[in-house]
Amino acid sequence: METSGKAAIAAKPCDVRSIINLLAENQIQREDVTIIGMECAEMRKGGVIAPGCGHCPSSVPNLYDIAIGLDGSANFADETMPLNGENVTAWAISSTVDERGQRFLNEIDKCILCFSCRQACQGCYCVSCFIDRKANPWDQVDADRATKIAFHLTRAMHLAGRCTDCGACEKVCSSGVNLQYLYRGISEFLEESFDFRAGVEPEARPVMNSFNPDDQETGFLGGDYIVGV
Ligand code: SF4
Ligand code: SF4
Repeated sequence: METSGKAAIAAKPCDVRSIINLLAENQIQREDVTIIGMECAEMRKGGVIAPGCGHCPSSVPNLYDIAIGLDGSANFADETMPLNGENVTAWAISSTVDERGQRFLNEIDKCILCFSCRQACQGCYCVSCFIDRKANPWDQVDADRATKIAFHLTRAMHLAGRCTDCGACEKVCSSGVNLQYLYRGISEFLEESFDFRAGVEPEARPVMNSFNPDDQETGFLGGDYIVGV
């Protein structure tokens, strides 16, 4: 295989989902990258699942040029991945508004607005992030509760249909902020409503780039909004 001049990246299934999203959004070109697909199942052995890995559906990357299996050979064992991640939609339906609000604020109050989550996220590649636009580059943005809520809710909306459930945002957070459930809840909603999950189908058109006049207008985590009814 000719790889001269290309970038090569060793990628687990979650990394490959992010690569697929970046390909779909024209941030990288397929011919410019050689994907060394690494099978990933070690994190689940012995019943121990690494944080952020409970929603990964497969031990095998769904796009690669070179395969490296668990035993180091070019063969994937393709182990079953027992999903045990939280179903956020089920939790949202069974919880009260106060419980949902309290969970969110418990996480928000730990945040120090260091933006490591944004920097680690494959989907946060804007040259100028909305939260930085009016900030003096020498100053830290005010880490008050309202600013933190604005940052995290806006980031969540910007990642709708683009979050690949890679877990990087939680893994890098030095304050232990667990807000991945927000992105996962939106992903569950989009999967149920539009049969789309970011980073799964290499040829799929991003759901937020697709419009059908028959698309439903539906609310997230709080009821249904049907326009015109
Ligand atoms: S990495 Fe953690 S502390 Fe830093 S901005 Fe993100 S959630 Fe807040
Ligand atoms: S899990 Fe976090 S870091 Fe990964 S794509 Fe989603 S928001 Fe970005």
